[in-house]
This record gives sequence, structure tokens and C-alpha cells, in this order.
Amino acid sequence: MAEFDVDLFVIGAGSGGTRAARIAAGHGARVMIAEEDRIGGTCVIRGCVPKKLFVYASRFAEDFEDAAGFGWTVPRPSFDWPTLRDAVSKEVARLSGLYRKGLESASVAIREERATVAGPQLVKLMPSGETIRARHILVATGGYPAFDPPIPGGELGISSNEIFHLPSLPKRMLVVGGGYIALEFASLFARLGVEVTVLHRGDNILRGFDEDIRARLRDALEHAGIHFRLGCTVERIELLPDGCRRAHCAKGEPIDAEVILIATGRRPNTVGLGLAEAGVELGSLGEVEVDANSASSVPSIHAVGDVTNRINLTPVAIREGHAFADSVFGGKPWQVQHGCIASAVFTTPEVGTVGLSEAQAAAGGHELRIFESAFRPMKATISGRQERIYMKLVVDAQTDKVLGAHILGHDAGEIIQAVAIAVTMGATKADFDRTVALHPSAAEELVTMRTPRKP
Ligand code: NDP
Repeated sequence: MAEFDVDLFVIGAGSGGTRAARIAAGHGARVMIAEEDRIGGTCVIRGCVPKKLFVYASRFAEDFEDAAGFGWTVPRPSFDWPTLRDAVSKEVARLSGLYRKGLESASVAIREERATVAGPQLVKLMPSGETIRARHILVATGGYPAFDPPIPGGELGISSNEIFHLPSLPKRMLVVGGGYIALEFASLFARLGVEVTVLHRGDNILRGFDEDIRARLRDALEHAGIHFRLGCTVERIELLPDGCRRAHCAKGEPIDAEVILIATGRRPNTVGLGLAEAGVELGSLGEVEVDANSASSVPSIHAVGDVTNRINLTPVAIREGHAFADSVFGGKPWQVQHGCIASAVFTTPEVGTVGLSEAQAAAGGHELRIFESAFRPMKATISGRQERIYMKLVVDAQTDKVLGAHILGHDAGEIIQAVAIAVTMGATKADFDRTVALHPSAAEELVTMRTPRKP
């Protein structure tokens, strides 16, 4: 009898796990993958993909209004939540099916049940009770929404998991938190016609982002009708007789809303997985502690993606999974560079960012030259919409290297992805300057900023 049933057992069929399984199988490994929910993971099933589709839906609200200035007569539009919700669910099911097909065509065996680690090279499946001897185990179980510490009535709120399936569009929504998830949903639901309040414990939203972006985004979201209650926490939530929720806050009046979305961060999904018992070292939030090769403290167990709580973004998990599979099964070892990774916040207006914020660069001891531009987008000159696009380059004064780029406005995510190539390559401001502008575009501002901001 063979010593092992499989060469690789992957726990979790999300972005990172699926990529690792397919690549390892392509290198000739016998691979099995387990998923207790739906194949595709957070990004595809209850994260990036359905969220972005909702964002597209929300932006039509302004498109209808803006069209009038360009000569269109648009009848008063109305919005039907079940149509959107069900169309998005259908697309998510299609994508999940594609993920499954991808695994099957790579000859990866799929188990649709919960897997736990029963030893350094042993996995147990439940409810079937099947045990699998695996030469390597990859933990790719992602994260779960957390509200820590719990508050009385916290269960009356919902997380981003449930928001995609609301039976009806609420009149009022309270969003707790000031990060990616809180702001993206606040922004999109406000545009779908919901009265949204964001309640956040900090004195401004998006901690860690460039200060100018934070301030300008908040202004823009306020301008779009979102109410902010900052420097405040929820102490308890009460169910009112009419089914509405009432959030009692540390200061100020209670807030009533049909839906309370709690978006206060995510935690690595390791509870009950049997990792500590198998000798795997876990961090204070439950994350699997890994080295640059995604190896845990147990040589046969690796981990990739949000469960390691490094940089919790889908493309990072995918790379980590790919690097692991190439290194362990393909004889082509490589490591993911976590240093310069672009990201976007899909609010309206959108945020795109790569590299260091001005504050981070200053704290890192760099002498800086800051280039910035705030301008009215061309479309707004005719639509009449009151909006500004903002761009900032953070440049090292000694080396001329562009350390960071930050954009707030239309297509910021699309633009920053291309800028990230230059920043990753170590482009200097002189490289930006000798790039000929593409006219008329918003992105051309990035290569036409001549004068640094006065200190
Ligand atoms: P974030 O870490 O972005 O934000 C969490 C927010 O909750 C912060 O504002 C934080 O405040 C606040 N918070 C945390 N704990 C508490 C508490 N106990 N009480 C009150 N407020 C609290 O997490 P998200 O859940 O928004 O997103 C999780 C991760 O998913 C992100 O880090 C991101 O990597 C990823 N993501 C990426 C997206 C994208 O790329 N577009 C979209 C969605 C998610 P404070 O700032 O004070 O800590």
C-alpha cells in the first residue's frame, strides 16, 4: 500500500487553495481539495465579485442623472433589488461552476465537506469520517467576519456574508466600521437609495491610507448623502417591535435602521481545524504563522491567503498558492514579494493606491517631494456634477524614486494597476515626466505634474 493517499491535500477551495491545487496537479502531484461551503471561496462567493457587480449597479444612479446634460431624456428610473440580487447570485453560481470545472480538468479530487487536520500528514473529513494520508497539507481556509469583543444584541446585525441575500432593500442601513468593506457597501447602498449612516470608532475612515485620500473620500461620501458618526462605538443593539434595529451608541442618539451591517474586520479561519494540536504555531488572531515560503512550524503543513493574515487580498493569495505549488512540486522555488501591492477601494468615487502614503514615507525617513493634482473630470463639465479627481505622487527627493501613488476618482482602480507596474519597477519622477500624456484622459495628470507642493 502506498505510504500516502495524496501528495497534497488542500483545505479550502478559495482563490489561494484552488490555484495551488491546480498548479500542483499540473506538476504531476496527486491532489485532493476539500471545501465545506461553495467552491470559489470568499472572493467569488461572498466578496470581491458579487460586491463589484453591486457597485456597477449602484453607479447607474448617477449615469441616469448625468445623461441629461448630454441631451438624453431619461424617464424617472426605478430600481428593483430582487432583480439585481438574483442576477448576481446566478453569476456567482456560474463562476463557482467554472472553478469546479478547472479543478476537475486538472484531475484534482474534490470533497465537499469539512476537513480538519488530524496530524502533521493526516486529514479527517466530516461528516463522511474519511481519513486521508497526505504528504503535504495546505491550509487555505481564508477568514471570517469578526465583531470583537461581542456586544449585547450583536447577533441582530449582519456581516458581509449575508448582505448579498437581503430579502428586500432596507430604507435605512447602519454600517459599523470604517475599512474597505464598510465603505464599499455604504457607498453602493446609498446610491441604490438607502439612507446610510457609517459609525466608526476612529476619527477618520480608512486608517492606513494616505491622509489626503481619507479626507477627500469622506467629503465625497458625505456629499453623496452618507451620514458619518465618527469617534463612536456601538454598545448594544435592540430589536424594536416593528422589526427594526436600534443601535445604542457610546455617545449621541441611538440609531434606528432595518439593517445593521457589521464590518469591523475579519479573522483567520482556524477555529477547530486541529492545527495547534498538530503542532502548528498560531498567532494572536489565530493566523497560521508562516515563513517566506508559506511554510508553518510543521514541515509538512503550509498555509496561504487570509488564513496567514499577511496581506489579505485575493491576488496575493493566488500568488502565494502558485509559489507554494511551484516550489514544493515543480522544482521551481520562488517567493511572493509582499512589498509593493496595489489595491482599490470600490467606493464611488473609487480609491486606487500603491506604495507608501505620504505619512508612511515620512516616517520611513525619506525626504519627500509631493506632487498632487485636484481637478474636475471632463465629463462633469457638461453633466454639472460637483466632483473632483485627486492624484498624488510621493517622491523621494534624494533618489527621485516614486514611492507611492494615490488616486481618488473614476477608474482609480484601473489606473493604479498600470501605475503599479512603474512603481514596482522603481520608476523615478523623471520616468513619469518623460512619458507622453494621453489626451484627453484623467490619467494624463500623472505624467504632467510639474511643480511639487510647497512644504
Ligand atoms: P478593515 O481592516 O479594512 O476594516 C475594519 C474596520 O473595522 C476598521 O475601520 C477598524 O477600525 C474597525 N474595527 C475593528 N475592530 C473593531 C471593533 N471591535 N469595534 C469597532 N470597530 C472596529 O477590514 P474589512 O472587514 O473592511 O476588510 C477585511 C479585509 O478584506 C481588508 O483588510 C482587505 O484586505 C480585504 N478587502 C479588500 C477589498 C478590496 O481590495 N477592495 C474589499 C473588501 C475587503 P480601526 O481602523 O480603528 O482599526
